[in-house]
Amino acid sequence: MKIDLNTLVRKNIRELKAYSSARSEYRGAADIFLDANENAFGSPIEHNYNRYPDPLQIELKKALAAKQKVSPSQISIGNGSDEIIDHIIRIFCVPGQDNIITLPPTFRMYGVAAAINEVVNQEVYLTADFQADIAAIEKVITPLTKAIFLCSPNNPTGNLLRRKDVEQLLDMFNGILVIDEAYIDFTTEKSFLDLLSEHNNLIILQTLSKAWGLAGLRIGIAYADAAIINILNKVKMPYNVSDVAQELAQRALLHGNVVDQWIQQIRDQRSILSDLLKKFSFVNKVFDSDANFLLVRVDDAAALYQFLLSEKIVVRNQSSQPLLENCLRITIGTPEENKLLINALKKYAV
Ligand SMILES: *Cc1c(COP(=O)(O)O)cnc(C)c1O
Repeated sequence: MKIDLNTLVRKNIRELKAYSSARSEYRGAADIFLDANENAFGSPIEHNYNRYPDPLQIELKKALAAKQKVSPSQISIGNGSDEIIDHIIRIFCVPGQDNIITLPPTFRMYGVAAAINEVVNQEVYLTADFQADIAAIEKVITPLTKAIFLCSPNNPTGNLLRRKDVEQLLDMFNGILVIDEAYIDFTTEKSFLDLLSEHNNLIILQTLSKAWGLAGLRIGIAYADAAIINILNKVKMPYNVSDVAQELAQRALLHGNVVDQWIQQIRDQRSILSDLLKKFSFVNKVFDSDANFLLVRVDDAAALYQFLLSEKIVVRNQSSQPLLENCLRITIGTPEENKLLINALKKYAV
């Protein structure tokens, strides 16, 4: 199904003339840059950062495109995927009028970004097995529903959404379907990226913050049809990704072998930790996970959270999310950290 983007994008965004930065206006090769009011002498530290970064992050996109077998024109880079989430809502949703659909328990940023933009967040809870409730979603979709946010593997439940459900949503929804794949590197299942070629209303979000170990650099990635990417590029701040971040991200992408080894270790540790956790009498359930964390239901999440904190271990209490009463989300650490966690839990048990 091909969606008419023009009818979906807010009028002010459709008509927006993007800011044209100095660095994007000249074409060709130049040696002397007197166009951007930078300091031509350099920077007063070891490295020079006196020049504005590439607003379109071309080199980084080329590296990502080669890796994911897409075109650089299908990629937009954000200052973290959080930034892209906000931009998606701003591009498609008229404040005070349009709405999005999210499927709690899920990543809270979608709802926060909607609230910031005065966009109604229609929450359709996941089913008991943490899958999308397609019939319930269909019921709340209206002509004012501009985007549905899915997360797979889902944070904080850890599971993948069923492919046939995602495909069904794509078939029945005329708005933007966002699939947040922040944890895709931790599963052996394939990404939804292959659906991009058939669906011009699909946006896949990935990030270098989790498996790639670069949360501090802030690199989020949107993969979508080039028409959507052009709009994302138009709406983002011209220099949203620093020179340092672009350069270090490119360097990191050359070390996929190291990351693959970590991913393997994290998966092994996930399985070990899951087995150990299940042995504690105060642990009622350890949910299966395709991510780098485990969702655990315990007798008293608030008490266990406080106890772990007193042992200098911080986890995340998810009890305020629907369906997640007494659930903690525990990120998989190094083998040493995981051992310390288990030791602390043994203390809690007595
Ligand atoms: C961590 C996380 C992100 C945030 O990614 P950044 O690129 O660091 O902004 C996005 N989505 C989900 C589901 C996450 O858990």
